[in-house]
Amino acid sequence: MSSSSSSLPLQTLKIGIVGFGTFGQFLAKTMIKQGHTTRATSRTDYSQLCHQLDVPFFRDVVPFLESDNDVILICTSILSLSEVLNSMPLRRLKRQTLFVDVLSVKEHPRNVLLQVLPENMDVLCTHPMFGPESGKNGWKDLPLVYEKVRVRNETRCSSFLHIFESEGCRMVEMSCEEHDKVAARSQFLSHSIGRILAEMGIESTSMNTKSFETLVKLKESATNDSFDLFSGLFIHNRFAQQELMKLEQSFEKVKQRLLKKMSEQQSLSSV
Ligand code: NAP
Repeated sequence: MSSSSSSLPLQTLKIGIVGFGTFGQFLAKTMIKQGHTTRATSRTDYSQLCHQLDVPFFRDVVPFLESDNDVILICTSILSLSEVLNSMPLRRLKRQTLFVDVLSVKEHPRNVLLQVLPENMDVLCTHPMFGPESGKNGWKDLPLVYEKVRVRNETRCSSFLHIFESEGCRMVEMSCEEHDKVAARSQFLSHSIGRILAEMGIESTSMNTKSFETLVKLKESATNDSFDLFSGLFIHNRFAQQELMKLEQSFEKVKQRLLKKMSEQQSLSSV
């Protein structure tokens, strides 16, 4: 864990958001509250919603890119990242900008950003480990994982990270690779189990134990996120497949132990 802003001066930022779905909107609200200026572009037309939020909305990505952003914040789905970035005429950027992504996997956006961006653009990869539900009552003590992949303008980067620090987030500096390793064993695993429970159709009962309540909550939280998000956690995290296999093997081992015990009991009772 480290403090990101040290003693550098902080600046109010002009933040252009790419992908104004659930998570992009959620982040924008806090940024606006803190006095930063936001504008957005997205595949869907969010003009009306943006009007209510007082956020300029750009249907056309060219004026968006030309709109003097300090930061371009990528909030698209994991699956659409390459397509979205490759469709942006990045040469239209008028100034040196900090690109930040918030995708729930980290090696993939790091690689894509380094591949498509001009060399003079800064890159910060982040993963806020919370969402509209877990962060609805504030972000205090919720983790923000980040790696400064290519940062030359430290003041701007610190000012961006300060958005999370000042909300009380736990700032965790970690390589993208380490993030993906850990997230495959934690976040992907809990999403997978939540999806399996949803597939089984579990519902709250009148005699819930605390453990069962936890399972119901896990199911609900996994299915609140889009299937695109869940499949992105699998497809674009090279450590996830191994965890899915371990889950399957472990399920099989537990089942075999139960069946063995049952057959032992049956042979005892038939004596
Ligand atoms: P999501 O389903 O992962 O992504 C929805 C966003 O992706 C929308 O802005 C959508 O644009 C855009 N999108 C999807 N397919 C597209 C395509 N083919 N072309 C262009 N844009 C496309 O849901 P989300 O919850 O909003 O998550 C956004 C990002 O934040 C993801 O990368 C996710 O991993 C990350 N994240 C989410 C959470 C969370 O709790 N939800 C937490 C941490 C990080 P339109 O709305 O314009 O259709």
